[in-house]
Amino acid sequence: MTGNRPAPDGGASPGDGDLLSRLRPPVPVLRIAARLEEAGHETWCVGGAVRDALLGITHLDWDLATAATPQQVQRLFRRTVAVGIEFGTVGVLDDAGRMHEVTTFRRDVQTDGRHAVVQFGASLDEDLARRDLTINAIAFSPRHRTLHDPYDGRGDLAGRVIRAVGNPEARMAEDRLRALRAIRFAARFGFRIEDSTWTAIVASAPWMGRLSAERVKQELDKTFEQVDRAGGALALWRDSGALEALIPALADAPDSLFAALDCLPMAVGPRAQARRLLRHTILLGHVPSADLPDLLRALRFSRAEARMVSKLAGLWRELGDEMGTLLSSSVRPDDITVRRWVARATRLDVGLLLRVAEAHWAARRADGDSAPSSASVRSLHRRALRAAYRDPVAISDLAIGGEELRQLGVPAGPEMARILQGLLNVVLVDPTRNTVHCLRSVAVELASRELPSAAQDLTERTGS
Ligand code: ATP
Ligand code: MG
Repeated sequence: MTGNRPAPDGGASPGDGDLLSRLRPPVPVLRIAARLEEAGHETWCVGGAVRDALLGITHLDWDLATAATPQQVQRLFRRTVAVGIEFGTVGVLDDAGRMHEVTTFRRDVQTDGRHAVVQFGASLDEDLARRDLTINAIAFSPRHRTLHDPYDGRGDLAGRVIRAVGNPEARMAEDRLRALRAIRFAARFGFRIEDSTWTAIVASAPWMGRLSAERVKQELDKTFEQVDRAGGALALWRDSGALEALIPALADAPDSLFAALDCLPMAVGPRAQARRLLRHTILLGHVPSADLPDLLRALRFSRAEARMVSKLAGLWRELGDEMGTLLSSSVRPDDITVRRWVARATRLDVGLLLRVAEAHWAARRADGDSAPSSASVRSLHRRALRAAYRDPVAISDLAIGGEELRQLGVPAGPEMARILQGLLNVVLVDPTRNTVHCLRSVAVELASRELPSAAQDLTERTGS
């Protein structure tokens, strides 16, 4: 089928009672809707919350669509925020200070694949017609407790189908991001993408380079945060041609890379944030390291995120093979090796490195390829964390620091850095040697290897 027209009767149908009972907007949202209705403005719950409620999934943000203009909304409520006033969105703060978005019914009057110019004074039907997918174009009236579903989004929820509202080709051309959204929802809910919608997504792919980096990054972030099978979504990015248009270095990424994205346990809250960064690390770690910094900048990663992704991707590239080989052998890695890995990755990040590593290895195991067993990785994880918090694994843990070395006559600069690294190597082999007395004499010895005059100076001062 190409496209779909609104059903003549978009009202409730038999069997709705059951579904309607799932629609329980929070009280503040009901109050805001009631206030708008009392003032004579038709108001509906729309978008993701209605969709998720019908699927039985909790959704925190209940968006309202209303016939009131943004100015009327601002006048009706005491505390509002002009979140996106030119698009008709006003944030209304409830008593607890929580914001709820109220958006004026609108129609698109101009689109260019990236931005839309919208016009107010539209009807609910016009507002629903500009939405991306049938499952996202279901409206619920909190006042009448009825659904308005002109594109049979409920039918597609039941049939587990992702389908564009209206003519798929035209809808994707209006806004190229819709193709990526369709893929995200398909992967998130495990739905199939209807044929003509998929054809339109594929046809859209070559144009995706025109999307702003911010929107692409945001879509990638949402995919990595929301979708348990994010690898399935990224494989669809590849198969549709979107990945080639957006990140050419990943055009031929292998299935095993996408599989690794799915080998990180589901997480919520701050852990979901961490998982998102680990997924970026796995995906973008496939890009040649020389190109990674430019790519992260182009994709508008924040500096902190870019640093983390580059660091972890670099560590995996540097240590992955060595760790994999040793863990797969019959001899377990010794304590010195474990401490060296911890020191290289740092105390704070070694756990993240091991999560990246385990995701790669789990994907290989699932494919029948050789990789360390999950038990050996778990054991390494425990040992690494124990070493990280018990043993000296960083220069700042050393019993003597730069200041003492300076007093001993070691000049600041590369020579001092070399000696400090040498001292760390000594205590990584044997943590009991991390004492002032012991490290002083090691420092003397290290200095003598390169700079006899500095060693002379040191010997005199330490009296050793
Ligand atoms: P979630 O917030 O869980 O990712 P959502 O469906 O709420 O999903 P939002 O981005 O919050 O997604 O958008 C709210 C609603 O606005 C969508 O349900 C859809 O109806 C509409 N919408 C969002 N983005 C687009 C778009 N690019 N084109 C058309 N309609 C869109
Ligand atoms: Mg939403």
